[in-house]
Amino acid sequence: MKLKNNYQSKLAILISTLFLQIITPSFAIAEPVVEKETLVKYQTQPGFYRYKLGNYEITSLSDGSVPQDLHALLKGGSQSEVDQLLTKAHLQSPVEASINAFLINTGTKIILVDTGAGGFFGPGYGGKLIERLKNIGYVADQVTDILITHVHTDHTGGLVKDGQAAFPNATIYVGKADLDFFLNVKNQNGVNGYDKAYFQQATAALTPYVKLGHISPISGSKLLFPGVNAMPTPGHTPGHYFYKVESAGKSITFIGDSIHVESVQFPKPEITITYDVDQPAAAKQRAIQFERIAKEGSLIAAPHLPYPGIGYINQATVGYKFIRTEYHDREGI
Ligand SMILES: [Zn+2]
Repeated sequence: MKLKNNYQSKLAILISTLFLQIITPSFAIAEPVVEKETLVKYQTQPGFYRYKLGNYEITSLSDGSVPQDLHALLKGGSQSEVDQLLTKAHLQSPVEASINAFLINTGTKIILVDTGAGGFFGPGYGGKLIERLKNIGYVADQVTDILITHVHTDHTGGLVKDGQAAFPNATIYVGKADLDFFLNVKNQNGVNGYDKAYFQQATAALTPYVKLGHISPISGSKLLFPGVNAMPTPGHTPGHYFYKVESAGKSITFIGDSIHVESVQFPKPEITITYDVDQPAAAKQRAIQFERIAKEGSLIAAPHLPYPGIGYINQATVGYKFIRTEYHDREGI
């Protein structure tokens, strides 16, 4: 075969381009019309992400995601300020919030941190935790301990299925102050404008475990078991807890709802959300914890940061910035 020289090649391309322009009618460059029925419909899968921490295996499990109308939910910042921050992040309200739960396999214990929303948000909105556990080879009965960061529906809802304990063999560790607030019979119709749904759903989620005698209330800082420390961080709720898990010189801290909206509350940590039981206390606690975490360079995991929600909090020119952990998808790590 004889190769064309460079000039001949260029000429051939020019001629063919001109020819195409002449014979191609203008409407032919429009995007092809695809019948809707022929589009493949599928959902993002698989919703589990493995992270090796010392000798422990941590798995971030997606319980689903929910849209959040930030104009209605955020407090302490003007709508235009919020919109500017969202625009910087190529977002607009409503934004989609992840609901992450975390599984820790220590070799002797199977521990969950939070349990997602269960069936409380309705079909399509959360409630995927049990299926995701199944996907990685676990059944609910194997879970030995559950660390609840706080008693909100998207963290405790997955504790129950059809009114029964979904994790019948697990001990539930939860802040005593949250139990006192959310299970108090006097609060079941709401407190100071804080919606009654929080209290009623908390009662529905926790009562089966109260009956089983499987609730272990926490007060103050406490070593729950070797390598797992509970640290009180009240504000978002009165009994909000961080859990620091350590193995072979590595650690990760599960920081619960000290952050809801990455693009807004990292640059402006003083902005709060209506879910905070005590807005000023929530903002103050966030300021203290972000400063400490950034200084320490600690690895954190959060339920509402974009899935898988594991990374670092760095000081930024304005406020803070979230740095996602590197992505692993190969054998052996
Ligand atoms: Zn919450």
